[in-house]
Amino acid sequence: MASGVGAGLVISGQIYRGPGGTAGEIGHITLDESGPVCRCGNRGCLETFVAARHILSLLSGSHGADLTVPKVVQLAQRGDLGCRRVLADAGRQIGTGVANLCNLLNPRRVILGGDLAEAGDLVLDPIRESVARYAIPSAARQLSVVPGTLGGRAEVLGALLGAGDVRDE
Ligand SMILES: [Zn+2]
Repeated sequence: MASGVGAGLVISGQIYRGPGGTAGEIGHITLDESGPVCRCGNRGCLETFVAARHILSLLSGSHGADLTVPKVVQLAQRGDLGCRRVLADAGRQIGTGVANLCNLLNPRRVILGGDLAEAGDLVLDPIRESVARYAIPSAARQLSVVPGTLGGRAEVLGALLGAGDVRDE
């Protein structure tokens, strides 16, 4: 079991998977080639910086070892500065990945799912800031980054990003 980051790409109303079915592996965008080793064998992938394991390890010294991501989100919403900082940093890293996605696909909307989405603007605002910083300005202006779940709104997606979702591999 691994905590993964992936994007479901909805292009012209259809899910795009690519010939090998791996399209949207946004979690393996390299952010730091000297960074931690990823489960894919590369180093410093986006996923290594936003996975639950990483978020919790950053807080284990100050907040104890029995934290969970939902608990971190709850503490952050109550004003805990350490939890806010860690979520904001994760948001910034996700935003770098979203900026890449934005430049490549010019999506209208990116929907953040998973545990981190529960943090709302505590994560979404740093994502938006990174997109504004790293994406082509015209593409960044057209993009909205919103929390949500799959469902009735899927047809309006240009791209859909799920972060922190657990999936088996
Ligand atoms: Zn990787």
